[in-house]
Amino acid sequence: MKSLLLFAAGILLLSGCAGAPPREPAPPVSPPAATRPGVAPRPGAVVETPSEAAGTRFIRVLLSGGTSGVVLEGETIRAWGIDGRLAAEAAGRVTLAAVGERIRWNGSRLLGDALDVAGAPNLRVGSRKVAGRVRLIARRGELLAVAVEPFEAYVAAVVSREVPPRFHPEALAAMAVAVRTYAVGAAAKPRDPAYDVVAGVEDQVFDGMDGIAAAFREAADRTRGVVVRYRGELARTVYHSTCGGRTEDARSAWGKDIPYLRAQSCDDCADSPVYRWEYRMSEAEGRRVAGALGVPPGKDLRIAVAGRTPTGRASRVRVTSGGVSRELQAAEFRKVAGYAKVRSLKMEIVPVAGEWRFTGEGWGHGVGLCQFGANGMARRGAGFREILARYYPGTEIGGETP
Ligand SMILES: [Zn+2]
Repeated sequence: MKSLLLFAAGILLLSGCAGAPPREPAPPVSPPAATRPGVAPRPGAVVETPSEAAGTRFIRVLLSGGTSGVVLEGETIRAWGIDGRLAAEAAGRVTLAAVGERIRWNGSRLLGDALDVAGAPNLRVGSRKVAGRVRLIARRGELLAVAVEPFEAYVAAVVSREVPPRFHPEALAAMAVAVRTYAVGAAAKPRDPAYDVVAGVEDQVFDGMDGIAAAFREAADRTRGVVVRYRGELARTVYHSTCGGRTEDARSAWGKDIPYLRAQSCDDCADSPVYRWEYRMSEAEGRRVAGALGVPPGKDLRIAVAGRTPTGRASRVRVTSGGVSRELQAAEFRKVAGYAKVRSLKMEIVPVAGEWRFTGEGWGHGVGLCQFGANGMARRGAGFREILARYYPGTEIGGETP
């Protein structure tokens, strides 16, 4: 199940939509108190933001891992050891590297295994600007960079990656609630004792705090703390760009029935630029895809839909050539063909003179909230609660504490 969910998460996030299905519960490892979310940074940070001072909760986002080094940039950069003492200071740019369980500062001094770093007026970790401090942890030669971000700033940043700022404020508010619901669930079951979520497609995509339009911050602020629940549990608030007229059942997309993720008709996304789409797959590209799927392509290569879900989306695709035939999940076919080319599985495949003409509707997996549909509803006068109730029917919308 876990691999299925992760696979599904990959598909939906890479396909221009997100809202990863929840993860399996993490093993019962208690993180050290100092790394728990919600704990304000120790005094002495270069910049203490108002939310830090007020003790607002935080989410720990893994920005960088799997490598031994990271570059930090800021006018002034200061680092504290876990004992709270100032360990190092620099201006402009610092290169940090893990050496076993210790951190090397700018190619010279060896410090301890964990540092808290803050920058003034702000700090960049690689390409990302962070709003809070960053904890660096050396672990067996790997350097983890974990941004400790104010929760609502994180929500605004994730929403900004998903929808344009010109969307109606009520649609942005609905997205903020969906993003927050996922994040609250993830923070309750951290991926690792050192962090709650990763910044990439495995969770919700976080590209840092650059260029977050005011509309996104307002959407997070005015829905602060609001989440979606089903029978008291946090709901799986998945979302996608455009359903193309009808959302998809979770059962059809991922093989698991979820009562509030069942197909809904949606006529509010009709003005989405991808409500209808077309893609012409060249002969060369068809051969590449067939080869990648294990079918050696010959002159008689055929690609066809071999099964559909009750909402009309392709569930199976068959690729045939030279006596070799392979039938596979349509989602796997879409992944190999390219999420930005085959934008949804609500599609027809017509062979045309050695090529294939794909015509389809919508973008993304189609499960849960339709972003362009939410915007259409908002423009008709619906509020964010009404929008969420439509795409997650039977759920309750309220504060984090039920
Ligand atoms: Zn729709």
